[in-house]
Amino acid sequence: MPVDPVCGIELDESLALVYEHEGKKYYFCCHGCKRIFTKKPNKWKKSK
Ligand SMILES: [Zn+2]
Repeated sequence: MPVDPVCGIELDESLALVYEHEGKKYYFCCHGCKRIFTKKPNKWKKSK
């Protein structure tokens, strides 16, 4: 299951908002989280 990197909630892939960054897809629970991520993607990206 995808996890919202901003708030850490597990998401249903079919309902989540998707944002693609550097070829990787990120999923969000709401527009607020997505906006936070898109402002500073490097802050929220997983370091793995
Ligand atoms: Zn969220």
